[in-house]
Amino acid sequence: MANNEELFKKIISHAKEYGFVFQSSEIYDGLSAVYDYGQNGVELKNNIKDYWWKAMVRYHENIVGIDSAIFMHPTIWKASGHVDAFNDPMIDNKDSKKRYRADVLVEEFVAKTEDKIAKEIEKAAKRFGEAFDETQYRATNPRVLEYQAKIDSAKNRLYKGLENNDLADVKKLIEDLEIVCPISGSRNWTEVRQFNLMFSTQMGSVSDDSNTIYLRPETAQGIFVNFLNVMKTGRMKIPFGIAQIGKAFRNEIVARQFIFRMREFEQMEMQFFVKPGTELDWFESWKQERRNWHLSLGIPAEYYRFHDHEKLAHYANAASDIEFNFPIGFKELEGIHSRTDFDLGAHQKYSGKKITYFDPELNESYVPYVVETSIGLDRTFLAMMSYAYTEEKLDDGSERVVMKLPPVLAPVKAAVLPLVAKDGLPEKARQIMDVLKFEFNCQYDEKDSIGKRYRRQDAIGTPYCITVDHQTLDDGTVTIRERDTMQQERVDTGRLEEIIRTRLKPVNV
Ligand code: ATP
Repeated sequence: MANNEELFKKIISHAKEYGFVFQSSEIYDGLSAVYDYGQNGVELKNNIKDYWWKAMVRYHENIVGIDSAIFMHPTIWKASGHVDAFNDPMIDNKDSKKRYRADVLVEEFVAKTEDKIAKEIEKAAKRFGEAFDETQYRATNPRVLEYQAKIDSAKNRLYKGLENNDLADVKKLIEDLEIVCPISGSRNWTEVRQFNLMFSTQMGSVSDDSNTIYLRPETAQGIFVNFLNVMKTGRMKIPFGIAQIGKAFRNEIVARQFIFRMREFEQMEMQFFVKPGTELDWFESWKQERRNWHLSLGIPAEYYRFHDHEKLAHYANAASDIEFNFPIGFKELEGIHSRTDFDLGAHQKYSGKKITYFDPELNESYVPYVVETSIGLDRTFLAMMSYAYTEEKLDDGSERVVMKLPPVLAPVKAAVLPLVAKDGLPEKARQIMDVLKFEFNCQYDEKDSIGKRYRRQDAIGTPYCITVDHQTLDDGTVTIRERDTMQQERVDTGRLEEIIRTRLKPVNV
């Protein structure tokens, strides 16, 4: 499922048509890279949050949650490095007037060259058959070597240019690689400039610089500045974690990929505080634990891959992304970072408060190291929608669109449908709803033919349709139809809760 724009467009229009995601301010022609979640979207989003929160907070005795404010003291963003360094290098094409991230243009060039290598390898594998040795081929084939050298030199120059803030050379690199604007096809580029991604606003009624505050660009800092509060009031012992779900804001330069890159979005973050020197072990164990969390949703492992960072942020000593195979290709879904003592150390310095942990075993105090897991809620939403969207041709020649969402995340767990809207069937169906609704989000629907009602539920990913018919009145049984197989089974009404509950359990990994 490589770069598949057609599929991506279908998912976007399905998301709108079925009340998952709407463009913000649509009746005013929208606001760029800002989206609203509709009646089904909010349920899916809440279910993702709940699934994450339970896995992180409830299932770990040593992780607690908080909910910190979006507005924070402006010095926090000085300490964290965001005021000075939360920049992206931007470049404009003078002909199309389109704006790009300079680093992304180079990375796309690298990805294209990697594709060329992959093609060469595929061809050779076919030619040589069983005798093919990929490692040897990569090490000796002149064309592959040439491509690889191009990749290495482009990456090196980009990282050096960004590190030394030598933006003129980043522009020169784009020119040397002969990168063209995908819209105009020209190489008529502006200079590269740094652009700070933070939104600022004024607090209070007097508008001057000293009142400038920022909308947080990540939730993590709200956790760091509450480290002492939580440690003391929760009597926390290292290692322990603090988790938070909340909004973050970034004035992204390029935001043309639906909810993949938004200017207002939500993050689910957890900072795990550890003894210095143990952080790389914890980093490895959180990488695995987070991967297992994704797999526990029942999505095949090939949709996920790790991408270890070669270029580390100034505060990190290890970093890896979990990438998901979106219709726009493999892209970052979650970041796992070993952030050393950079953040707590910086807040200690800027606030003048001592931020340390007294370790009773060592009988000494230290600034803890941090391993963080940071996942985008909206990107997880998009990953689920991308995986779930399925067009199927049925045996009778008709077609259906079914959202094969992990059942635990599906907005509606069961639809209760009286076969006809008379003869006491609606009343019986309502009785069933009244039992199920306390545990599961259910929908009652009596309009249109049963077939049409099934399609509506398929389109929003409802795992079960429960049909009440005349036999129900006689013997208390209903038919229950499973979304993916469309198989129907006659069961006793009393078994419904157990059947649905079983389906919502995480997949063992
Ligand atoms: P990218 O490289 O895609 O800009 P990032 O490395 O800056 O992302 P982090 O700062 O590590 O992202 O943020 C953690 C997570 O937050 C990301 O893995 C992603 O899921 C999510 N995220 C970041 N920026 C956005 C955005 N603009 N829109 C939606 N989700 C985002």
